[in-house]
Amino acid sequence: MDTTRIENAHMTDHDTDENGCTLCELPVEGSAIVDDGDAFCCVGCREVYNALETVENSC
Ligand SMILES: [Zn+2]
Repeated sequence: MDTTRIENAHMTDHDTDENGCTLCELPVEGSAIVDDGDAFCCVGCREVYNALETVENSC
């Protein structure tokens, strides 16, 4: 058995600094959702952001 593997528990800084979620500003990872140049951490954030934009445009 190989039990010598060490899990890296540290959150290393990848190149995601400029890819924070447009809505909640959480750092997004490789599976980021990009919509029209805006990155989101999840579909929910994208939906909320689009809904807010729609509201603003309709006022
Ligand atoms: Zn988000």
